[in-house]
Amino acid sequence: MSILKDFLLQMTLMVLPIFIYFTIITERVKSDRNKTILMTVLWGISILLCMSFPLNFGENRLDIRIIPLVFGALYGGFWPGILLSGLVIVYRLNFGISAGFYNTVLVLLLTMPVIFFFQRLFIRSSKDKRVMIAVGLSSYYCLVGLTFLGVIRGFSLDTLKVQIIHLLFVVCVTWFFTMLNETIREIQQLRLELQNAEKLRVISELTSVFAHEIRNPMQVTRGFLQLLDDPEFPETKKQYIKISIEELDRANDIINDFLSLGKPAINNNGKINAAHQLERVINILENYALNNNVRIKTDMTDECWIFANSQKLNQSLINILKNAVEAMPHGGTVWITCSKTADGQIKISVKDEGIGMTKKQIDSLGSPFYSLKEKGTGLGMMVSFQIIHSFHGKIMVNSERSKGTEFIILLPAI
Ligand code: ADP
Ligand code: MG
Repeated sequence: MSILKDFLLQMTLMVLPIFIYFTIITERVKSDRNKTILMTVLWGISILLCMSFPLNFGENRLDIRIIPLVFGALYGGFWPGILLSGLVIVYRLNFGISAGFYNTVLVLLLTMPVIFFFQRLFIRSSKDKRVMIAVGLSSYYCLVGLTFLGVIRGFSLDTLKVQIIHLLFVVCVTWFFTMLNETIREIQQLRLELQNAEKLRVISELTSVFAHEIRNPMQVTRGFLQLLDDPEFPETKKQYIKISIEELDRANDIINDFLSLGKPAINNNGKINAAHQLERVINILENYALNNNVRIKTDMTDECWIFANSQKLNQSLINILKNAVEAMPHGGTVWITCSKTADGQIKISVKDEGIGMTKKQIDSLGSPFYSLKEKGTGLGMMVSFQIIHSFHGKIMVNSERSKGTEFIILLPAI
């Protein structure tokens, strides 16, 4: 009975930080840094309590400190991982310097580098892979501990039995909590996306209302300008009228683009080659790039067939390529590649060596009217994201401040 009580207590010590994180920290704390700091503190408390109230199994004291440690290092990164392992060692000193203490230190020395090695992969992975990595790492920790303990105390059937129970316990609990963590995260993500979609819907409704209102006076002005175009006018005045009409037409185009936003696309998708579309887009923007001292280098294969609408795809590619050029005010190179991945997707990459973005800026990408440019509209990325999503694709962004940015578009191949 007491084992069950200890077991439930250890589980509670893991639930609490996760619960506090998703209910309080994600809602109230805005900066990522502070989130990581608070989470490290919570995992630290959880480690201390796990070690203070272990599961008493005969002679053995078992605990699941490895789970908060692995979570802290995997989600938080290098420093939280180092701090938490330091905490484990310092707190373990309290129980006296015995074989168990050396065992703890040795096991940490052997596991932490492996955990840090997998951390980057973990952050980039999908839910299922994350669960696998976390379970793998905590079992590795237990196995290393088991081996050392065997060497120090000698292998016996009894200790082996206990250690294997510990291993199974840790594996199940890690699996459960990683699943829990990732599922809550997914639900939260979905909620955010829903909020964004709602914002978009409101914007597109409002714009379609006032777009019509602006269009009417524009059409009238355009008509009168045409009437004014007297053949007796001197050339310069004719030129002014011509420019005015052109500018009005441009404004009209912008309104058209705006109206297409948020509207469910009419399903006129077809089989198109992404590489060919990229070539067209590069042709369109070639002069623009040259004027900005930007060279465009390409590496594309011919097997990039996707199911999409070429006009819409071009619109989003133009937005992304234009941003890449604009990110390099002093010129540079944009690399564009298009290839088929091993898992049957078409991967388009647009990489620049421009000003780059901070993590916060990346997160704001695609929000309506988010722009850092003097004359930016902050609509380009929003439209691009929407277009790629409508083709069941996704856009990923890797960026580093003053190093450059890479946009990766993944689309299902046919
Ligand atoms: P706009 O280009 O009109 O500003 P976008 O939606 O196209 O609007 O882009 C939004 C913002 O995202 C830009 O103002 C810029 O700060 C940032 N951004 C987009 N692409 C890049 C890039 N390749 N490098 C650096 N910043 C970028
Ligand atoms: Mg733009």
